[in-house]
Amino acid sequence: MNDDPLRAFAAVNGGFRWDRVDVLRYKDEGSAPFRDVTRQTLFRRPDMRGELRYFEVAPGGYSTLERHEHVHAVMILRGGGEALVGEQVFAVEAYDLVTVPPLAWHQFRAARTAPLGFLCMVDAERDKSQLPDARDLEQLRTHPPVARFLDPR
Ligand code: MN
Repeated sequence: MNDDPLRAFAAVNGGFRWDRVDVLRYKDEGSAPFRDVTRQTLFRRPDMRGELRYFEVAPGGYSTLERHEHVHAVMILRGGGEALVGEQVFAVEAYDLVTVPPLAWHQFRAARTAPLGFLCMVDAERDKSQLPDARDLEQLRTHPPVARFLDPR
């Protein structure tokens, strides 16, 4: 193990895990709905305003449906699935770049047969995520592709 803090984390086990980076729960259990997501913080330091994290959603899992003022740049690294951003739903695969604008509802869903791993660049200081209320969900479901995304068969 190399303790030099300036050294980049080395990938281990062929990828998607990094030396000295803990694999954490995505969020505290019960704080928001999600399924089978892990979080690894790859880059965070006090002299930079951004953070780089790697999330992995297991097959059939999904991130929390949420919105916030801060933006995300999401680079898919592994597997595939679907993304909801605003009122749009689209398929995502490795190396796609997804931008999540301010206050856009967003959620990532892994395919049933593959994980969905992605890098997420974000402000280090950021506002708290908002969760949808019943009225927000009703409004989202007025868009048929969004309704299909939210209620997969
Ligand atoms: Mn978010």
